[in-house]
Amino acid sequence: MPTLISANSDASRDTNVDLDPRVVDFVSAPRQMYIDGLWVDALSGARFDTVDPATEQVITAVPRSGAEDVERAVRAARRAFDEGPWPSMTPAERQRMIWRIGEGITARADMFAQLETIDNGKSVAVARAVDVTWAAEIFYYYAGWATKIEGRTVPVSVPWAPGGRFHAFTLREPVGVCAQIVPWNFPLVMAAFKVAPALACGNTVILKPAEQTPLTALLLAEVIAEAGVPDGVVNVLTGFGDVGAALSAHPGVDKVAFTGSTEVGKKIVNAASGNLKKVSLELGGKSPQVVFADADLEAAIPGAAGGFLFNHGQTCTAGTRLLVEDSIFEEFTQGVAEFARAQKIGPGLDPTNDIGPLVSREQFTKVTGYLDAGIGQGARALAGGGRHGDTGFYVQPTLLVDVERDFSVYQEEIFGPVAVAVPFNRERGVRFAANDTPYGLAASVWTRDVSTAHEVAAQIKAGTVWVNCHNAFDTALPFGGYKQSGWGRELGEGAIAEYTQTKAVNIAL
Ligand code: NAP
Ligand code: MG
Repeated sequence: MPTLISANSDASRDTNVDLDPRVVDFVSAPRQMYIDGLWVDALSGARFDTVDPATEQVITAVPRSGAEDVERAVRAARRAFDEGPWPSMTPAERQRMIWRIGEGITARADMFAQLETIDNGKSVAVARAVDVTWAAEIFYYYAGWATKIEGRTVPVSVPWAPGGRFHAFTLREPVGVCAQIVPWNFPLVMAAFKVAPALACGNTVILKPAEQTPLTALLLAEVIAEAGVPDGVVNVLTGFGDVGAALSAHPGVDKVAFTGSTEVGKKIVNAASGNLKKVSLELGGKSPQVVFADADLEAAIPGAAGGFLFNHGQTCTAGTRLLVEDSIFEEFTQGVAEFARAQKIGPGLDPTNDIGPLVSREQFTKVTGYLDAGIGQGARALAGGGRHGDTGFYVQPTLLVDVERDFSVYQEEIFGPVAVAVPFNRERGVRFAANDTPYGLAASVWTRDVSTAHEVAAQIKAGTVWVNCHNAFDTALPFGGYKQSGWGRELGEGAIAEYTQTKAVNIAL
């Protein structure tokens, strides 16, 4: 049985799970990053470690890029865009290459899943069934788009040219060099959200994975190289926030696409103002799940619990504010608490575990800090409430009640397996409570009444509303935020709009 040996120490893992020998091989030495079709170290030679949050052991090291590596990557992406051949290839050629990326991910599905699990902490079963499968699906979907990006013909009048005849049309052209900065919660999927539509539209890309989870982005670069994508079209820079900041400010970058915290999103907007590069942002959330007394509780209890526990709550759409009609508050919260207590906690490499560790010590400290603050202010934990075990960054699935509006656990994004539950009265309505947040990413409504479902879906200010489900994403559905949850849309046709710009051409005949 292969065991994972750290590149930087002899410590072996204590989890009894077969690791794919290709994974063992992948992490057996420090990795390089991918710039202009070459595998390279940082020009400074600097590296940093990436850590397995289940064992707190170092997995391997990756290059720590600096300003000079950003220059090198921007030059490569600029040249690949301005001189081609990428934007001038036929749509059908691009389609086939993007499709091959999907096939490359599928061919290495187990390897991607295990790497994601050791780097991020998530369940390997979920990584395989959701993250890896979906990432491949996103490349297949946008492969199809490459041949379907069309302009229009526009009948024009030009009133100051009486008698003149014109032929006018629009073109959808790529934006150019796109910096894409992604977080650690769904490392591969977030990369796919951004890279696939950018390529379909003919852009070139510099991808910056989160410092906590660089490994699957590097494996994705291998797949992209094998698919035949020309040098410089996709570059992957590993590093810290300063690399993201340098890309966001760089005059050679035409667009920055970011997923992460609202705080960093605001910094990116400021940094982008120098050359007014295009910006799209997918930021945080504090999503409500509105549960009506007429809901099918047998489905709503596990559904709403899964809605905040999925990915250990490290999900931007996590349904962490349970707004429950008062007549069922007791029964519903007891049911959710029971579900939360029944979760099996342990390393993600054991596919029978439901809840793995949080991604990092920093995230663990942040989440347990919120729990201490909320309980200190008077919240009551119906389930969980603190740390699990003493090794690895595990937090118990937690449901808090007796929560007031001014508690930080009610207002702020916690990004851990924690929800608050608050009762509402049907007569007074739920519109205010549902929208009582600066965020507007997602929401769900649990009811058997079709009129209630439509009315509440219309009242909620959020980019996505699910009814009788939560986190039911689809690649064809646009995804993004209202209010401070972001700018622009990913997935579906929405992403094609983000990665193209429209040119009007008017020809006097
Ligand atoms: P973050 O700081 O927003 O990180 C997201 C990405 O931005 C990472 O690649 C990060 O690089 C990069 N970055 C950091 N500073 C930057 C800057 N000034 N300019 C450009 N890019 C920069 O998120 P985090 O610190 O990992 O997590 C903090 C909180 O953000 C979480 O607790 C959670 O509430 C929220 N979050 C939300 C999402 C989401 O999907 N909406 C995802 C992750 C986190 P480094 O990682 O190398 O610093
Ligand atoms: Mg890690």
